[in-house]
Amino acid sequence: MSGATRYNNFIGGGWKPPRSGAYYPDYNPADEKDLIGEFPLSTNEDADEAIKSASDAFTSWSRLLPAERAKYIEKFVAHLAENVPRVGAAICREEGKTMKEALGEPTRGVVECSYFAGEAQRLDGITMPSDRKGVVSVATRVPIGVVAAISPWNFPFLTPLRKIIPALAMGNTVVFKPAFDTPLSGVLLMEMFEKAELPPGVVNMVIGKGSTMGDAISGNPLVRGITFTGSTTVGRRINQIAAQNFTKVQLEMGGKNPSIVADYANLEKAAAEIATAACAVSGQRCTSISRVIVLEKHAEELEAGIIEKMKSYVLGNGADPKVTMGPIINRAAGESIMAYIQSARDQGATVKTGGRQLHGGDYDKGFYIEPTLITDATPSMKVSIDEIFGPVLVSIKVKSFAEAMKVANDTEYGLAASLFSDNLSYIYDFQQNIESGMAHVNHGTVTDSTMPFGGVKHSGIGPFSKGVTNKDFYTAFKVNYVKYA
Ligand code: NAP
Ligand code: MG
Repeated sequence: MSGATRYNNFIGGGWKPPRSGAYYPDYNPADEKDLIGEFPLSTNEDADEAIKSASDAFTSWSRLLPAERAKYIEKFVAHLAENVPRVGAAICREEGKTMKEALGEPTRGVVECSYFAGEAQRLDGITMPSDRKGVVSVATRVPIGVVAAISPWNFPFLTPLRKIIPALAMGNTVVFKPAFDTPLSGVLLMEMFEKAELPPGVVNMVIGKGSTMGDAISGNPLVRGITFTGSTTVGRRINQIAAQNFTKVQLEMGGKNPSIVADYANLEKAAAEIATAACAVSGQRCTSISRVIVLEKHAEELEAGIIEKMKSYVLGNGADPKVTMGPIINRAAGESIMAYIQSARDQGATVKTGGRQLHGGDYDKGFYIEPTLITDATPSMKVSIDEIFGPVLVSIKVKSFAEAMKVANDTEYGLAASLFSDNLSYIYDFQQNIESGMAHVNHGTVTDSTMPFGGVKHSGIGPFSKGVTNKDFYTAFKVNYVKYA
């Protein structure tokens, strides 16, 4: 392909072509003629080489003082902070989200990485008075070894950062596999690690198809931890393969996140928050609200508010400042979302607003789907059960708060949930009994940068990421005893 920039893998501190010699083109989802570049179609051998390189770098990296490792991270962060607009523009072009959403990734990245640079120096252990005379007992945290970081396309920059930086801070070395749809963000990340003069092999990246080389990464015995964000299907596979070598996992997977509305005075505010949480990043967030479970008496007013907010979105190329919703990541994903919307019609629900793919002009350059509200849905419909991963919100009416909780929990997922209510009993009942990793009262599903993040049931396994819990994935304990008398 003439004129396209060709990018490579990052292994052992240098840029390496894939052994296959094969590359694939990556296009802008908002303009499928806009070729971003050509990226490696790596094979198992490339993955093995990257893992070997990380393994070779482990001893010296893990033996640095935490403060020395923190220095490298601080240098990386300083460089990231200077490059926020450039990174944002690349994410907008590669992933299709709006510029505002795209800029959020490096901006938030600076905050979270700074926290983790400090966390390297807060590696707390455990000490207890010994039950034997003349013995000192101290448990310290040690790095686990080579960590594989596998990430999805929807947050192509922030999600890898949330994996790579804590891994490094705690003394591990890394092999990173970016999503097939968003390899450029991975390249930018590696360039920044190069600028931070990270020792060779401490961070490596292999680009290519997860279905081709994913198993080679998960099954390599040198990999001692896998931090993965993506679908439940792929997470399950990784978990099974990792189990062969007793490799630790931190899996953050899909969601079918509910929002309950019960006795909340400001229905207009609830509607706006719910619609925003359903439509941000074109509904392609793991924490998107995709089910609203509403008491019958509020349904009409709430749904009217949601429709008003949904109709206010301006769809188009996210690089245009007027645009508030970008395209779907690719055509296959778009077709899948449209099939879900059709299934709702077929099963007797009402497509109350949206529901169409947009055509004509710039809309033909990508796959654009109107923000969609499906009403008169029942909990057993396909759209109420499956993660759709698009701007589609399903409204289910219930008679009581107890029924709302039952419907909310009747899912294999358990990532995020929200409740809008002024009733204290409902609020505490929700906090106690909702089966989800994160429970939000009276707002959408926005999380703090320093708090743990994760899911239960089929949405997550392993220690929550971000916050202090992350240490429990990236380190193991070593219990030391000294007898001095
Ligand atoms: P995906 O298909 O599961 O892919 C995620 C990553 O896994 C990609 O890098 C993918 O590579 C790779 N992969 C594919 N097959 C693999 C295998 N056999 N072994 C190892 N890795 C493999 O997910 P996606 O479509 O990119 O992202 C959307 C999904 O991610 C949704 O389900 C969403 O809910 C979930 N998600 C969850 C969270 C969370 O924190 N819980 C956050 C964001 C997204 P390729 O790209 O090359 O296929
Ligand atoms: Mg792409």
